[in-house]
Amino acid sequence: MAAARRPLVAGNWKMNGLAASIVELDRIIAGAAPVTPKADLLVCPPTTLIAAFAARAAGSPVAIGGQDCRAEPAGAFTGDIAAEMLSDAGARFVIVGHSERRTLHHESDAAVRAKAQAAWRAGLVAIVCVGESREERASGTALAICGGQLDGSLPDGATAANLVVAYEPVWAIGSGLTPIPADVAEVHGFIRGRLVARFGAAGEGVRILYGGSVKPANAKELMAVANVDGALVGGASLKASEFLAIARGAYCE
Ligand code: PEP
Repeated sequence: MAAARRPLVAGNWKMNGLAASIVELDRIIAGAAPVTPKADLLVCPPTTLIAAFAARAAGSPVAIGGQDCRAEPAGAFTGDIAAEMLSDAGARFVIVGHSERRTLHHESDAAVRAKAQAAWRAGLVAIVCVGESREERASGTALAICGGQLDGSLPDGATAANLVVAYEPVWAIGSGLTPIPADVAEVHGFIRGRLVARFGAAGEGVRILYGGSVKPANAKELMAVANVDGALVGGASLKASEFLAIARGAYCE
């Protein structure tokens, strides 16, 4: 019997948002009631806003997360943020291995794995991102690429409580393009198999999010695919109305 996994709709604000943007969080909190019986909501603002957002969201069903962390707990790493600092500021999740980090900051699978371990050390849930490029999809190597990223990026000891995997085809991020549902099903089924093979029954409970140009108009279809346990939303998460419309469209209609 399939494990019951509670969906998660997560917003990745990337490098967007100033103090005044807390009004969008207020709107998400105000509009969360129809969604939260069915799904979890998470907002990952830039690091500067985590403490204020976490304080505002305290007691609400909306969780706050970070977008990256460094593997070390402290030290001479100018400009970097430790997982412990995110936790101290009120974050409960952290995204690691986003394709923008893998590409722009040349982060390897080993580096992503160390970050996921750091997240666990700090008591955070790690959202580990994997996904193929346009060229890799075109050459038929999407599964091999995702499999290699999973093998290299996931530490031992993953459970449903400490890990979320996000499948984000790089070519779908910010492009308005999405894979057809059959292709999403193929990759998510493959990831599920890999998680179960490595982590046993715990792998059945790990949530696998789809990310890449999720919008209110396509959320229902994408979230209905087998083994899609929610969404990682970039651009459309910046407006509370769109973010909530995605979650409602997927889980409340
Ligand atoms: C992302 O970068 O995680 C993402 C999914 O972006 P977008 O929704 O804008 O494609």
